[in-house]
Amino acid sequence: MSLNLKNFIKNVELRNPNEPEFLQAVTEVIEDLIPYINEHRPDFADLRILERMVEPERALSFRVAWMDDKNQIQINRGYRVQMNSAIGPYKGGLRFAPDVNLSILKFLAFEQVFKNSLTSLPIGGGKGGSDFDPKGKSDNEIMRFCQSFMTELYRHIGAETDVPAGDIGVGSREIGYLFGQYKRIQNNFTGVLTGKGPQWGGSYIRPEATGYGLLYFVQCVLDYNNESIEGKVISISGAGNVAYYAAEKGIQLGAKVITLSNSTGTLYDKEGLTLEKLAYIATLGRDLAKFTKKYPSATFHAKENPWQFKCDIALPCATQNEINEADAKKLVKNGCTIVAEGANMPSTAGAIKVYDSAKIHFGPGKAANAGGVAVSGLEMSQNAIGQQWNHEKVDHRLKLIMENIHKTCVRYGKEPNGYVNYLKGANIGGFIKVAEAMKAQGV
Ligand code: GLU
Repeated sequence: MSLNLKNFIKNVELRNPNEPEFLQAVTEVIEDLIPYINEHRPDFADLRILERMVEPERALSFRVAWMDDKNQIQINRGYRVQMNSAIGPYKGGLRFAPDVNLSILKFLAFEQVFKNSLTSLPIGGGKGGSDFDPKGKSDNEIMRFCQSFMTELYRHIGAETDVPAGDIGVGSREIGYLFGQYKRIQNNFTGVLTGKGPQWGGSYIRPEATGYGLLYFVQCVLDYNNESIEGKVISISGAGNVAYYAAEKGIQLGAKVITLSNSTGTLYDKEGLTLEKLAYIATLGRDLAKFTKKYPSATFHAKENPWQFKCDIALPCATQNEINEADAKKLVKNGCTIVAEGANMPSTAGAIKVYDSAKIHFGPGKAANAGGVAVSGLEMSQNAIGQQWNHEKVDHRLKLIMENIHKTCVRYGKEPNGYVNYLKGANIGGFIKVAEAMKAQGV
């Protein structure tokens, strides 16, 4: 049996109407996988592995009712998409944001399957969350929401079944409230969530892992091309965990980090951020514009994204589809040669075409931002053996994992002319292990 790309996409669209993000993520993967399967692995086509992979093993949606500070009842929708457990328990974050819906969570869960496989750790793929908007909520409201959310979710998860973690809108505070409620209900102290505090089962370096891992991946790309990161100009979007620690590591490695951003706009510092400036940014909350009062070398660009500024390396670390075709063209025109994704699917299909024709190095999120879930996997290992490894050990293992991911991308993505198509490499490299496991485990 041979697979046909157009028919496959049409079918996915028919079976999943009104799910543009999911369709985008699937298309981005199967454009590489279908030619590969047709040429090298007709057995996977016969076993309908791809058709099975685009269908979640389970997709749950549930009511989350909670009381706000005015004693009014609020109702949100909670989700958990358990996408694929062929190589390990479902693993992936929870996202709390007003735009969360099934399409977005299915795209994230689908990406997670490939990403988790690339880490070489035994973790399957899942994702969950809610359309709850944490912005402007009090600490008590956040706690009550998390407790209500977990009161439903607990029955679907477990240390060896499904292990959620954080994502946008879910940080260590939320993980704490969620974990407390799970423990209360189950009377069981277990590694059911990752991203826990280091005093109660969390791993060192987990908060830093996605951002640090992103920079380790960029270093691999530069090394591979006999270049150094020192003095390179880096533009970063976002101002959350991923962006913050990407900036920190970039500065530590001697690069010049010129931007951070949030939905209010972009902070541009032509002299480059320093660790001291970063520490100040951490105190500002969402008011990035305030930075320019203390540091006049910086300017704030309300409602604008960072892609207009000249840089060597662009690190989108905010959210999906934040770089469109026009932004990508600006980056290429200004001399950017590496785009590595800290966020999940921040580049639109149009943007990826632009990177491709300019032959710049494009590290897709499933490879470049896998450091976060990799250290989550290390947290699961530490929980399973009742130990806590020190900073150095976790950081060292994170580095090795990112180097290994880079190697896998080169192995499957290197084209005859020497150019490495990292997206293709990540798609095929992530796929094979999952497909072999599905084949071995039968229908
Ligand atoms: N949300 C992160 C991601 O997109 C981390 C997931 C995890 O640690 O399980 O990979």
